[in-house]
This record gives sequence, C-alpha cells and structure tokens, in this order.
Amino acid sequence: MKQKKRGNAADKGLALFFVVLICLFAFVAGVKTMQYFDGGASRTASETQTAANSMTAAPPAETPTTAASTTETPTTAPTTSSTSATSAAPASADRMQSGEKVVYLTFDDGPTANTDNILDVLEDNDVRGTFFVIHSYDGCEKQIRAIHERGHCVALHTYSHRYSIYRSEKTYFEDLEKISDLVYNATGVRSNLLRFPGGSSNTISRKYSKGIMTKLTKQVTENGYVYFDWNVDSGDASAVHVPADKIVRNSTAAIGQKKEIILLLHDAEAKTSTVEALPDIVAAYREAGYRFDVLSADSFVWHHKVLN
Ligand SMILES: [Zn+2]
Repeated sequence: MKQKKRGNAADKGLALFFVVLICLFAFVAGVKTMQYFDGGASRTASETQTAANSMTAAPPAETPTTAASTTETPTTAPTTSSTSATSAAPASADRMQSGEKVVYLTFDDGPTANTDNILDVLEDNDVRGTFFVIHSYDGCEKQIRAIHERGHCVALHTYSHRYSIYRSEKTYFEDLEKISDLVYNATGVRSNLLRFPGGSSNTISRKYSKGIMTKLTKQVTENGYVYFDWNVDSGDASAVHVPADKIVRNSTAAIGQKKEIILLLHDAEAKTSTVEALPDIVAAYREAGYRFDVLSADSFVWHHKVLN
C-alpha cells in the first residue's frame, strides 16, 4: 500500500515534470514567434545611422540590432493562423484558386548607388519590382523617376525614415505627405501604396507613442492607402553585411510553400550583396513557375500582426 502510494507520487512527479517541460517548450516557441514579428522591426533604437551601414546620410535600413532578432529562419513568414492577420483581395482569391504562383520583389530604403544595378538585373531578367522609396538624398527624384520610367512600381516608405515619425498621427502623416509629394513630382503618379518603416509589426514605435501602429494602420486605410508588409524576408538587413548566398537561401526558402510571396529586400547603400543575390533569386522563382508582378491596390496583400 505504502509502495503503491510512493509509486503514485513518482508518477505524479513524472507527469508534473512533463507538464513543466511542455510549458517551457511552448514559451520558447512563443518567444521565437515574437522574434519573427520583430524581425525587420527591432532595429537600432537610435535614430542615427551607423557609419558602417552607409556612406551617405541614408536613414537606417530595417536592421535588427540584436543577435536574438537575427533569427536563422528569417524567411519564416507569419503562419497563416488567425493570429497572423493577413488579407488578400478578392482578385487574389481567384488567383489562388487558379493555382497561379506570384512573387512580388520589394525593395525598401532606396534610391541609392545600388538602384541602377538592381534595375539592370531586373531588366536583364524581364522582371518588374516594387520600390518603397524614401528621401535618401537631395536630388533623389531623378533616380525615382528612372525607377518609374523603367516600368517598376514606385511606392511610399517614408520621407525621413526616422522612427520619431511615430510620435503621433500628425508627425507620421506630415512625413508621409512629404514623400508622397516627392514621388508625385518625380513620376507624375500619386501613389497610395505604402510600407511602414519597420513594418506594421514594429515595436520600436512604442518608444515614441504607445498604440500608434494600431491607430496608423487604421488611419492610413481610411485615408485610401494600402499598406504592405512582407511574408518572406530576405534577411539582407539582419546584419551590416549578409553574404549573397544566405540572402538567396532566405529569399527562396518558401518556394513551394506559399503561392503568393511578398519578398522583402533592401535597396540600401550598404546592401551590395542584395544586388549580387538578385539574379539567383529571380532564377529560382522562375524555375519554380512563379510569375513576377508589382504590388497594386488590388493585388495580394500581407499584413503583419500589429504589436503596438
Ligand atoms: Zn526601411
């Protein structure tokens, strides 16, 4: 009888051990997920650009600061669970049914010295991309015009790329209007497509205003904008220099798993390996049967879960 009791106690102890183990595993998995959402978003807290990242006065790229946020699997998009809010336009649903595979190459933070090279690679491969531009330097309108004239989509990222734009709705929209005007003056087209610096899931904005992303994501939509995050991250901003082969691996890891892919790449001064990686990325998608397209107001949309 006594022995049986001890046996029960041992069983309970063992059961408790496994419960603790499972909880621990769930917690670690949860943290990993949060890291993803933070992926492109947790970045230099400082508004100043690191000298290593750019030779010009270009603003910070989506560069995660900590090793923790530089996950080995940055390509893992938010899973298609209810928690990772994503939405697709009705037209997109039709495409999904048709089984067509589409990839949207997106380039943030340009124009820079890399832009012309990116445009050349795209032209050589008969591919169009979407450029979320900023005011990267005085006179950048000329390059922005070239992006447009060479058949690509010019969309809005931010004028300053300073995270202090998240101080209030007013400061955000003042900045947005400036880049909107700059793009309009350069291209003659008033874009209503945007990408938030850090993505809509960025948490650095908490430093400036709690809940601002919740307000802005709603407000931009009400103002007629469509905002885009990404469901595949090339990881090219996960360090100052990321080897081209790693960018290719990250960029192509979801081939076959996702039919519609918005790929995050950077057209930033220091990102020369992104240019190097581009031909292989294009070749891999083409070989896998993907069509290349530019984002538009009624194209596939991917939204991260808003965390602030
Ligand atoms: Zn950016």
